[in-house]
Amino acid sequence: MEYSHRYHAYPTQEVAEGLEHHLDVHRQLYNHVRWDYQNSPEDDKPSEYDQNNKLPEWKRKWSVFGELYSKAAQTTVARFHRNLSNLRKKKEKGYKVGCLKRQAPSDYRSVTYNQSGFDLDEKRGHDKYAYVRFSKIGWVKIRYSRPVPDHATIKEATFKKETTGEWFVSFGLETGDADLPEKPDVDSLDTSNSVGIDLGIQNYIHTSDGKTVDWLDLEDDYERLRREQRKLSRKVKGSNNYEKQRQKVATVKRHIRRKVLDYQHKLTTWLVKEYDAVFVEDLDVAGMLQGDGNARNKQDAAWRQFITLLEYKADLYGCHVKQVEARGTTKECARCGVETAKPIWVREHSCPACGFETDRDANAAMNVLQRGFSELGLGWPEDTPVETVTATDTAQFESVSASHVIETGSLPS
Ligand SMILES: [Zn+2]
Repeated sequence: MEYSHRYHAYPTQEVAEGLEHHLDVHRQLYNHVRWDYQNSPEDDKPSEYDQNNKLPEWKRKWSVFGELYSKAAQTTVARFHRNLSNLRKKKEKGYKVGCLKRQAPSDYRSVTYNQSGFDLDEKRGHDKYAYVRFSKIGWVKIRYSRPVPDHATIKEATFKKETTGEWFVSFGLETGDADLPEKPDVDSLDTSNSVGIDLGIQNYIHTSDGKTVDWLDLEDDYERLRREQRKLSRKVKGSNNYEKQRQKVATVKRHIRRKVLDYQHKLTTWLVKEYDAVFVEDLDVAGMLQGDGNARNKQDAAWRQFITLLEYKADLYGCHVKQVEARGTTKECARCGVETAKPIWVREHSCPACGFETDRDANAAMNVLQRGFSELGLGWPEDTPVETVTATDTAQFESVSASHVIETGSLPS
């Protein structure tokens, strides 16, 4: 599948001049390609390939062409030949067509770099911006309104100046829909390649095979947000200072959202790569279990985003992702199924019926795993982690810090 993303661009004065200059030289090149074509004998018109081969000679003759990134120059030659073939098709359909016109500056507004000569730096812009480098011109700041998906390849980058004077950068993206991996056979799933996840209260996630992954530490960020919000409350509404401060608050909020999203991207990518099946609780139900105001809503929103990402990546990486009934995952014993009420502060699961003891969230994650198997029509797995995990030994659960996930983009396996 091919599609494109378009972004508002904010080049510095200096870079904008470079873009303008290149735009103009590309236009001259286009016109020269056209001139060369039209002045060739009727029975010996040059092909795109022929004209690409003439580029070095033209560069020697007119040094200005030498300023262009050579692959981008080839793309401009290709543009002429694409227009030519479109014109021909129209003619074949019986339309009355003229010939390709010389391009005036007002007609020629964009330049495309194909395959190479450009870079995207997603990190440098913080929050809502990113930077794109066009070879021989420089870095252009763009408003990075939607990130390029992990699985997409950027085939080309185009810069364009609209008639309004605004700059835009667009990426031609490609995803191999046809060769998306097939999901593993359901019958091949077992407890070694599948995982149940408890979206915990203390830890961000707890897996049925014994990993706890900490939630991001956002204390400093929230502290900063509170500070900026306090400042905002002291400004006069509608004043310049108020507006400035309002933007500061918005920036901090955006920063937090970005950080969370980035973290969730890493976690979900790891999960779908590591396992053939991932089971999570259905949040619509879980959300109602312990309703406690704003904090709870915030966490629910974060989880919903987490699950959305997980489901989306399931298709990209060939992994089964299923949401299971959340009710009772904490109360129910993962070994015998007997329900025991647990107040929220009780961190251990200790079953009065069968004596199974483990961490509260581990028990819940194992229940999620079992429910996932049953959803897929597989019944209880023979070798549930209940039997393989030394029941009382919660110390063996491996704890992974958020900073580890951030730095390595993965969890230890
Ligand atoms: Zn039990």
